[in-house]
Amino acid sequence: MRKVLLTRPLPDKVQMAAEQHFDVTVRAQTTAMSRSEMINALQNYDAVLPTLGDMFDADVFAQVPQPRCKILANFGVGYNHIDVDAARAAGITVTNTPGAVTDATADVALTLILMSARRAAEGERMVRAGAWEGWHPTQLLGMHLGGKTVGIVGMGRIGQAIAKRCHLGFGMQVAYHSRSPKVLPFEATAYGDLHALAGAVDVLVVAVPGGAETHHLIDATVFQAMQPHAHLVNIARGNVIDEQALVQALEAGDIGGAGLDVYEFEPRVPAALIALENVVLLPHIGTAALDVREEMGLMSVQNLCAFFDGEAPPNSV
Ligand code: NAP
Repeated sequence: MRKVLLTRPLPDKVQMAAEQHFDVTVRAQTTAMSRSEMINALQNYDAVLPTLGDMFDADVFAQVPQPRCKILANFGVGYNHIDVDAARAAGITVTNTPGAVTDATADVALTLILMSARRAAEGERMVRAGAWEGWHPTQLLGMHLGGKTVGIVGMGRIGQAIAKRCHLGFGMQVAYHSRSPKVLPFEATAYGDLHALAGAVDVLVVAVPGGAETHHLIDATVFQAMQPHAHLVNIARGNVIDEQALVQALEAGDIGGAGLDVYEFEPRVPAALIALENVVLLPHIGTAALDVREEMGLMSVQNLCAFFDGEAPPNSV
């Protein structure tokens, strides 16, 4: 039986499915793998099921010239923690889990949009602190979403699911900036220029993949282009945003607020962000629902099964 390493405990259903086909070892820790663990995994397992935080960079592959491992079946759609070119050069296939995460992550984007625009976290903190003195007409006035414009940066699977929710659910107009034009089932204005989009919208949502190409795509110049009442939401990857520049924009009131599910140096969240009222901070829960995590894991197992049956895995990247 082929030896497979799961780099985190996964839902029972996923572990049981993997055990039906493979000799499975489950790494007990919930933290990211160390370099030596990754090197050991490439040397001693036929396949590894890694996830966010397991930094399989070029140097790790270089340490194992003849890896026993032939496939990294990533648990998650985002794979910017894996140097795919280096993996390929080492003869290792990489797969991911697209689709399974789309609706759940879009739902968390809407959670952040609503919480930031309607000042929900601020209000919740007030209640918990015993500081609420009762309803009055000018208390915690936020931004109503109906009739406003959402701007999506990266109109892929998740970007489109967010746009659909904003448009059909909240009557928002949709604008977007993406690498290639899209045919969409609702009206949407495409902007070739990111700064023009940033200046035109009331909510700017980031949904591009992480990686070198999108590193600090959202920087101080984008915050300067945004309207002072506009909100920024990031459900993509932390380093797509220049976090320091975001702190400055929020402190200076250059933008109205922000909602974040991901952070540049995750799990480290800057004290300056934590100190601000006009930002909502979630702990990377985009896909955190049992059935979604089960579907993601079963996709990873399917990718492994197809690969070892000599077929093309359904989700090669
Ligand atoms: P996707 O379908 O590949 O969509 C990404 C979109 O971004 C594509 O439309 C792509 O354009 C566009 N894009 C890429 N580079 C760009 C650039 N430089 N400028 C503008 N647009 C660019 O991926 P997805 O399934 O929607 O997932 C998106 C990302 O969300 C993932 O990579 C992952 O990092 C993140 N994510 C986060 C969570 C969470 O828990 N918070 C959960 C799931 C996913 P083209 O269509 O032209 O290629």
